[in-house]
Amino acid sequence: MTGRYLDAEKTGLLQEKIIQAENELAECTLCPRKCGVDRRAGKRGYCGIGGLAEVASYGPHFGEESVLVGDKGSGTIFFCGCNLLCCFCQNYEISHCSEGECTSVNEYELAGIMLELQAKGCHNINLVTPSHVVPQILAALPRAISGGLHIPLVYNCGGYESVETLHLLEGIVDIYMPDVKFWYEESAVQCAEAPDYRQRVQDGLLEMQRQVGDLWVNSEGVAERGLLVRHLLMPGGLEESTAIFKYLAEHISKNCYLNIMDQYRPCGEALVISGLEKTITVEQYQQAITSAKENGLTQLDKREPLLLYEKLIIQE
Ligand code: SF4
Ligand code: SF4
Repeated sequence: MTGRYLDAEKTGLLQEKIIQAENELAECTLCPRKCGVDRRAGKRGYCGIGGLAEVASYGPHFGEESVLVGDKGSGTIFFCGCNLLCCFCQNYEISHCSEGECTSVNEYELAGIMLELQAKGCHNINLVTPSHVVPQILAALPRAISGGLHIPLVYNCGGYESVETLHLLEGIVDIYMPDVKFWYEESAVQCAEAPDYRQRVQDGLLEMQRQVGDLWVNSEGVAERGLLVRHLLMPGGLEESTAIFKYLAEHISKNCYLNIMDQYRPCGEALVISGLEKTITVEQYQQAITSAKENGLTQLDKREPLLLYEKLIIQE
C-alpha cells in the first residue's frame, strides 16, 4: 500500500505544490470564504487558524468506516479550526478553537505525528478537517517521507472546498472523504452561513472523482484510493438527502461509496435552534437508505445494519 505522494516527491511535483500552497497563505484564498488575510503573518480568517496548523488530538481510530479502519485503525489527526463552522458541529470546541483544546504544530511535528500513526500500524493518515491547513500538510510531507511514510492519505473534509486548492492535492491525496451536508441554500445559510455550499460541493465532488475515481478496496478490505462520500442525516431533511443521492448517482457515479450517517445530535448553537434540536429517527434513517438505493447507488457503507440494530435496541 503506497501513497501517491511518494511519486510526487520523486518527480519534484510535491515541492512545486508546497511553494504554490505556501504563497496562498499570504493572502488566503484556500477555501471559498476567500478571506484574503495574511496567515503567514499570523492573521486569522474565518477558519480561526493562522500560519501554523493546530491539532486537537491524534491516534488510531476505530469509529470510522470499516474500509478505513481495517484491523489496526485509521490514523486520525484532528485539526483545530474549520472553514465551515457548522452551528451543530459534533466537535464544536475543536472546530471553533476553544481555549485549551489546540496545540500549534510546525511541519516537523506534524510529520512526526504522521510517522507515529504509521508506526502504530494504522492503515492510513486520516486528515480530519484539513481544508484550511493544506499548505501546512503539504509542507510536512517531505519530512514524513524521508522518515518512511508510505500509507495512503485520507482527506476528510466538510465538502466546502475550492477547486484550485483541490488541484494542489492532485497526485498527493489518495482518498477523498467529503461529508456532503446540505443541498438547499436555506439550510447551508442557517447551519453554516455558506449560501454557495451546493455549488462548491458539486464542483468539489466532480474534481475529486476526476482525480481518484470510485473507491478501490484491496483484498484485505481496506481502501487504498478513491472517493468515499459521507452524508450526515439532518433532522427532517429527507428531501434534501434524496436530492444529494440523486446528484451522486447521476453526476458522480452509481458506484460511489456512500456512508449515510445517522449520528446527528444537537451540539453547540443547534441546541437552541428550532428543528435542529432533534435527533434522527429510525424511520428517517431507513427511508434514507431506501432512497439511496432507489436512486441507483449500490456501494453503501456496510455498517448500516449494525447501527440500525443498535438504534432499535436503544429505543426498545
Ligand atoms: S482557509 Fe481560512 S483564512 Fe483561508 S479563505 Fe478559508 S476560512 Fe479564510
Ligand atoms: S465541517 Fe465538520 S468539523 Fe467543520 S464545523 Fe462542520 S461538522 Fe464541524
